[in-house]
Amino acid sequence: RPGLDAEKGVALFSADGRDEEFDPLAMERDLRAAIEAGGQLQLHYQPIIDLQSGRLVGFESLMRWQHPGMGMVPPIRFIPLAEESKLIVPMGLFALEQACRQVNHWRRLLPDAGRLFINVNVSGVQMQEPDFVERVAEVLAREGTPADALKLEITESVVLDDVDKMLSILSRLKAMGLRLAIDDFGTGYSSLSYLHQFRFDAVKIDQSFVRAMRQRPENGLIIRMIAELGRGLGCEVIAEGVETANDVIRLAQLGCMYGQGYHFGRPRDADTIEKLLSPAREETEASI
Ligand code: C2E
Ligand code: MG
Ligand code: MG
Ligand code: MG
Repeated sequence: RPGLDAEKGVALFSADGRDEEFDPLAMERDLRAAIEAGGQLQLHYQPIIDLQSGRLVGFESLMRWQHPGMGMVPPIRFIPLAEESKLIVPMGLFALEQACRQVNHWRRLLPDAGRLFINVNVSGVQMQEPDFVERVAEVLAREGTPADALKLEITESVVLDDVDKMLSILSRLKAMGLRLAIDDFGTGYSSLSYLHQFRFDAVKIDQSFVRAMRQRPENGLIIRMIAELGRGLGCEVIAEGVETANDVIRLAQLGCMYGQGYHFGRPRDADTIEKLLSPAREETEASI
């Protein structure tokens, strides 16, 4: 994994433009402190759009770490570290709690947002915790969030030595009314086997396929196949990495229902999103 080569150290470009040695132990210590102190970790939100109508349907929540010395650290730098140290367990619960509060707030605030949802990324390390499902249920109950307001995104690479255990956890989450998405679909070796063993509610096509389609239109064939497969199994199909107006047209033609990407909007903090969402806004933001 990038950034975790403890022996060599990996150069990290800091916010002030200087290169610093990437020191995983120091990062882990700082991350632990950040969790205890609060305030440094926050969720950003990226819109998910209905490709036919252009309507906003929900958001994916993406974690950000505002490091006191290094500035904004991207997830690729701290999620793997958090997984190895198991710090992802409290971080994941924090994300779930924040997403619950945010979706409650936005559903109340926006008259048409009755079905708005927030996607929360869940790490396989979290799912290995024996009380994972109970903890999720607790957070939802405590925050008073209806299960249909959240979708859990699970990366296939996560999974798993113990497929039966995984399937049982997924079933229990689903029985609670949570919806489940398989993230980065197509990048692991097990995509197809998971799809037929478990009925996901949504398939997120990895952005590498969308990029490949942009480079060569013939590559759209793979997207068409995944979209057809997903739809045939009753899943919503979401394309990641939608960057151009042409992507939108092509992806809709290829059978993707929803899209997410810089073309519609980058991940932003909740206040910024709220300003963009507010019906009273003066100018219409093209990006949402
Ligand atoms: P992901 O779940 O597949 O999230 C999508 C990533 O694609 C995000 O990167 C997002 O900013 C980026 N992205 C969105 N639209 C575009 C686009 O049009 N072009 C390009 N090139 N990229 C786009 P980000 O925020 O850096 O997150 C990276 C990964 O870190 C996520 O991939 C997810 O696996 C992990 N992650 C982020 N937040 C959390 C979290 O709260 N919990 C866990 N367990 N993992 C998280
Ligand atoms: Mg995701
Ligand atoms: Mg993804
Ligand atoms: Mg990804």
